[in-house]
Amino acid sequence: MGVSSMDISINKVEKSRLSEVDFADIQFGKIYSDHMLIAYYENGAWLKPEIVPFHNLSLSPATTFIHYGQAIFEGIKAYKDADGNPLIFRPRDNWKRMNTSAHRMAMPDVPEDIFIEGMRQLINLDRDWIPSSPDTALYIRPFMFATDEFIGVKPAEKFTFMIITSPAGPYYSKPVSIYVQDKYVRAFPGGIGFTKAAGNYGMSMLPTMEIRKMGYDQILWTDGFEHKYVQEIGTMNVFFVIGNKVITPDIKHDTILAGVTRDSVITLLRDKGIIVEERTLGIDEIETAYHNGQLKEAFGTGTAASIAPIAALTYHDTKMELPPVETWETANWLKKELGDIRYGRTKDTKGWTLAV
Ligand SMILES: *Cc1c(COP(=O)(O)O)cnc(C)c1O
Repeated sequence: MGVSSMDISINKVEKSRLSEVDFADIQFGKIYSDHMLIAYYENGAWLKPEIVPFHNLSLSPATTFIHYGQAIFEGIKAYKDADGNPLIFRPRDNWKRMNTSAHRMAMPDVPEDIFIEGMRQLINLDRDWIPSSPDTALYIRPFMFATDEFIGVKPAEKFTFMIITSPAGPYYSKPVSIYVQDKYVRAFPGGIGFTKAAGNYGMSMLPTMEIRKMGYDQILWTDGFEHKYVQEIGTMNVFFVIGNKVITPDIKHDTILAGVTRDSVITLLRDKGIIVEERTLGIDEIETAYHNGQLKEAFGTGTAASIAPIAALTYHDTKMELPPVETWETANWLKKELGDIRYGRTKDTKGWTLAV
């Protein structure tokens, strides 16, 4: 990759917190590894990144991102193979996507050596934080935010890029119950739906709170004009197995995040000779398939949740209950196949994993 020579200053913790962690009971996103990476952007250039002990930041109350939301992030996982070696899954795809988000949010590109080589060195240092029981991994959270100390509205000139990591177990313990949203809108053409910008999540809190109270786990968002065409689930892309085809909304209208898991799933399915259609998909088509007995499986895909089977999909007064997950061929095969690559149980013929 030509980046491994990058000079990163490393300041190690005096004493690791590892012994305080109960790896038998890891909750997603609650504990953080010993170290973090931090890099500052000033006067049009990135300064040398540092790996330092995980610590709280000190910020002016006038720091711009707090007020105006120039903030973006990524989500990646490192898995441990049978020999205990860390494997990072497709980090270069996340690096590219981070810069797609950065561009839309008028933020600077993060150079590959800071993102990839910085991450590699951070994971190498905290490799013992990668849990090893089934379905666990180290969640890697790169993020960038604007740090001008100025409360006027203008694109910032100073930015901070960081990476923190957190041991993670399975995200959902059982199939999820989904509510099809047609009151609130997540994304529309020309907006920021295709980015991992903080604001996309801030706006989703109230709608999600409302459907949680009604007993659902997550929202399936629909388009902003007709509230009819499905987009994606809160933090996951969505797939439907209808008849012998797999259908997922296409990402060409700037409204859907181009998930790395989504791309991996499409690639694996097509390699196996299964027909995958990336296209406009109306909720009416899903309902018709359900009533005809053609809706076989529905699942979300994302780094945090991997493949998340959908138990039921509710649209207005219609509750579409999917068959028992044990009987699903596609999602169960994908989960195993993806897992085999991520955990290094099978040869990675696609160049997806990055050894640390
Ligand atoms: C992160 C995310 C996904 C999943 O993307 P992956 O790269 O597969 O983790 C899907 N939708 C949204 C809105 C997301 O934020």
